[in-house]
Amino acid sequence: MTQDVEGRTSVDGVEVLGSLSPSRASDFMTCPLLYRFRTVDRLPEPSSPDAVRGTVVHKVLEDLFDLPAPDRTPGRAAELLQPAWESVLEADPEIAEMFGAEGPEVGAWLASCRNSLERYFALEDPTRLEPAERELYVETLLESKLLLRGFVDRVDVAPTGEIRVVDYKTGKAPHPAFEAKALFQMKFYALVIWRTRGVVPAMLQLIYLGSGELLRYSPDEADLRATERKVEALWKAISLAQSSGDWRPRRSALCGWCAHQALCPEFGGTPPELPVLQIEATPVS
Ligand code: SF4
Repeated sequence: MTQDVEGRTSVDGVEVLGSLSPSRASDFMTCPLLYRFRTVDRLPEPSSPDAVRGTVVHKVLEDLFDLPAPDRTPGRAAELLQPAWESVLEADPEIAEMFGAEGPEVGAWLASCRNSLERYFALEDPTRLEPAERELYVETLLESKLLLRGFVDRVDVAPTGEIRVVDYKTGKAPHPAFEAKALFQMKFYALVIWRTRGVVPAMLQLIYLGSGELLRYSPDEADLRATERKVEALWKAISLAQSSGDWRPRRSALCGWCAHQALCPEFGGTPPELPVLQIEATPVS
């Protein structure tokens, strides 16, 4: 699961001209106007029971590795579910309004979280794993002064020094035609880790808990150099859109999940005026 860290203006005394996370890069690739709504206008978006399931299941999987290895059983994971749900609810009590009359019944929804956790145990045996890092913030400053950053769900390091980067998804595995898009986020993290640790991760692993599938990829240096070129090209395109104010909508099947259809010209809407400060500022996403 990816989070954002805002407001970095320098790294080790070197000025940051902009920053990019995999999710914001993915927004721009999907639709420049979506990127603008999320990053420039910073329009709020409603959460959903599916999004909350992702938060709660991620928390359980993080807490699971606080237990001694032999205790990381399906039963203990199920026990961690209720406290994880309560802590998420405590942090944002309005989440409760998504359930009951407005949405799924909480008991059935918690059962769906349990199903996701059961699928996890069919894919990995956490009693045999000792993650090196969990919810790890990573960043690296490219020569162009673009800061790449993000949160990695889990990093495993083998005794031989080989690195595995792991991300949990509560949705289903993508169709093979969309695997490259899913792997972009992982290659982005691999690039940051390579730049900061000098080691190309041996394995990128996406764990899809909605369908109980793994997507694995072994990158090489050429992959990561290509990812860096792609990220730099994206950044140029974002900077151009920022300076021209031309954030074009790109209609696709993903519009069905967009929270901003009412403001989108593709659906008869009108975007709000651009915030003045954001027009003048160097983009930081
Ligand atoms: S509705 Fe579609 S085209 Fe419009 S902003 Fe959202 S993703 Fe872009």
